Amino acid sequence: MNSMKKRINLSLIGIGVATMLVTALICLITLSSMYVDHVRQDMEITADMLCSAYERGDTADLSIFNTSRMRVTLISPDGTALFETDGNMEVMDNHLERPEIKAALEEGKGKARRISITMDIDMYYYAKLLEDGNIVRVSMQAESIFSIYRGMLMWMILVGGIIVIGSIVTSMILTRKLVDPVQRMAQKLDHVNEVDMYEELVPLADALTVYQKRTHELEKVRQEFTANVSHELKTPLTTISGYAEMIENGMVKAGDIPNCAGKIHKEAGRMLTLIGDILELSRLDEPGMQKDLQQVDLYQIAKQCLEMAELSAQKHQVQLFMEGTPSMVMGEKGMLEELVANLCDNAIRYNRPSGRVTITVKKDGITFNTILKVEDTGIGISEEDQRRIFERFYRVDKGRSRETGGTGLGLAIVKHIVQQHGAKIQIKSALDQGTCIKITFPQPDTDSKSPESES
Ligand code: ADP
Repeated sequence: MNSMKKRINLSLIGIGVATMLVTALICLITLSSMYVDHVRQDMEITADMLCSAYERGDTADLSIFNTSRMRVTLISPDGTALFETDGNMEVMDNHLERPEIKAALEEGKGKARRISITMDIDMYYYAKLLEDGNIVRVSMQAESIFSIYRGMLMWMILVGGIIVIGSIVTSMILTRKLVDPVQRMAQKLDHVNEVDMYEELVPLADALTVYQKRTHELEKVRQEFTANVSHELKTPLTTISGYAEMIENGMVKAGDIPNCAGKIHKEAGRMLTLIGDILELSRLDEPGMQKDLQQVDLYQIAKQCLEMAELSAQKHQVQLFMEGTPSMVMGEKGMLEELVANLCDNAIRYNRPSGRVTITVKKDGITFNTILKVEDTGIGISEEDQRRIFERFYRVDKGRSRETGGTGLGLAIVKHIVQQHGAKIQIKSALDQGTCIKITFPQPDTDSKSPESES
């Protein structure tokens, strides 16, 4: 909870404090180097003036420079102090070891700086070689960098505190600005796009709208399906219940009982078929269900289906024909059997006496796709109905479908199986002339086989 506020807060504080520290560091370095330069320049000028005074012969002048900040020492080449502005000569040890003196002896001038951490004071030295071999040295005390640091510390703490408070206030305002539209969206989920929001939220709002529409559609489909299923199950069950009641009440003569039982049996069979189809559909609907596709000969499958349909064809006085050549597809045998059986079953049931059903399986000469065609010389389907027959429970002629044992789910199952195989379905039909359903399966070698099988 509140993690976004916390995160914004911490980042702002982090950025603020880091900026402050970096700025302070840069200022400190620049200022201290400027300060040191200034001190050195000061000392060099003083030393130069002393030198020229000395070389003019006014040695007594040295005492004029007895200021509180600068100390002047005159040192002989053997290292003894000849003059000292504070007059404290006896305490001084031999100067020859001092780096600034050494440098002055060797190069004419030398400088040094001794930093004292404990005393908060730095010592600066500048020494110059005079023409007579003596050395004049100017030294000066200055506030150390550490003491400047300490002086700044209070300010840094103060600015840091202001940054922390400022960050908390800013993060509160920012989070509110960020979160408010999201909360308003959550409250108005049904009209997300009407909420006043910032640009970056538009994709989320759009995605939510699409998702909602889809959910609504799915819900509608699901409700319709449930209503349809209940209705479809209710009809045969009402018949079954009616006949059973009549037998129970002794209203059916003994001789009519087999007839009644036959009707009950038929209706129960219809219910079983329907339930079978529903189960099949829900199995095909399962999301992410990876089908175990293998190379199978569609021609062989179609031929077997045709043989199985022979009895039904005779009943409807329809003749069956098989055409084409063995053709491989990537598929699942069980599903392909179901697909051909459903199409063949429809072609027989919606046919006319002495009609014909022709199944063709072949390879397309140009694309090498495998084509399955189921043609009939039946009642045909109007153009308007052609668009809807793949919907669940959609039937052009309810009576005929029921009578011939249809569930209204056959083509919905076909559509699913076609999708699972990455195939395409086309329908050509004219009323009273017949129907041709053509399914094109992608060439099995193109994406699933090794490259050498292509050559
Ligand atoms: P059913 O179980 O009712 O046959 P289908 O889903 O298989 O359900 O088909 C849906 C509807 O499409 C059928 O009710 C029928 O009206 C129409 N239909 C399907 N195939 C054919 C065909 N070969 N000829 C004419 N009409 C057909």
